[in-house]
Amino acid sequence: MKGVVGAVCLALWAWLGMGAGAAQERPGPAPPAALVADLVAANRILADQGVVDGFGHVSVRHPEDPNRFLMSRSVAPALVAAADIMEFDLDGNPLDPRGRAVFLERFIHAEIYRARPDVHAVVHSHSPAVIPFGIARTPLRPAYHIAAFLGAGVPVFDIRGAGGETDMLVRDSRLGRALAATLGDKAVALMRGHGDVVVGPTLPLAVFRAVYTEVNARIQSQAMALDGPPVFLDREEAEKADRALDQIHLRAWDLWKRKVTAAP
Ligand code: MN
Repeated sequence: MKGVVGAVCLALWAWLGMGAGAAQERPGPAPPAALVADLVAANRILADQGVVDGFGHVSVRHPEDPNRFLMSRSVAPALVAAADIMEFDLDGNPLDPRGRAVFLERFIHAEIYRARPDVHAVVHSHSPAVIPFGIARTPLRPAYHIAAFLGAGVPVFDIRGAGGETDMLVRDSRLGRALAATLGDKAVALMRGHGDVVVGPTLPLAVFRAVYTEVNARIQSQAMALDGPPVFLDREEAEKADRALDQIHLRAWDLWKRKVTAAP
């Protein structure tokens, strides 16, 4: 806890213009410290829950300026501290770089925020149990109520459609736009041979969905190895269960946040 408080103070100090390189004017309102702390927690939760490892990133839209979002500098999510949180515009440009390295795939976040005003948080990961569903014909479907948000359908983005033969990375706005178009109005899109992107109206709900997309993929693979075919939640069940999740997901967030911020 002390470390987090210290890191938040450090970030505030930098924003107040006392940090190195602060001569550069940073326009617009500073993000609330509590949101920065939640974004730090989100990074650590996703690592703790096995969604991200050395790679992957999570972002949140700026609450006072819908045309910018917050995301860490290029660093493993488990190591993120408040001072690592940067601001970006919807073209993927860092607004306060101060010499910090940025994620190559920041365009995933930028273009989803541009396309989806309802989205306030985005997770991109190489969530391991999800990978098979991005390369096989079997669609990812809700195996249980906790993953009901998958019931609206889970599209698969094939980067070859927009980019031809690439290194599989969403390196520019054009590829980001193509991914956002594949996501459409859904909560999750898989990325063939790469990972997935998970979105939500809030940071805790996006994190919740990212965790349970991974868990559901594991469960679905296990069910498909049994005598089948599996009986998934149908569309109406999924819609009803998803509404219930809106009410209960903060219980999981509170638990996970406590785990990653507790004093040693
Ligand atoms: Mn990636």
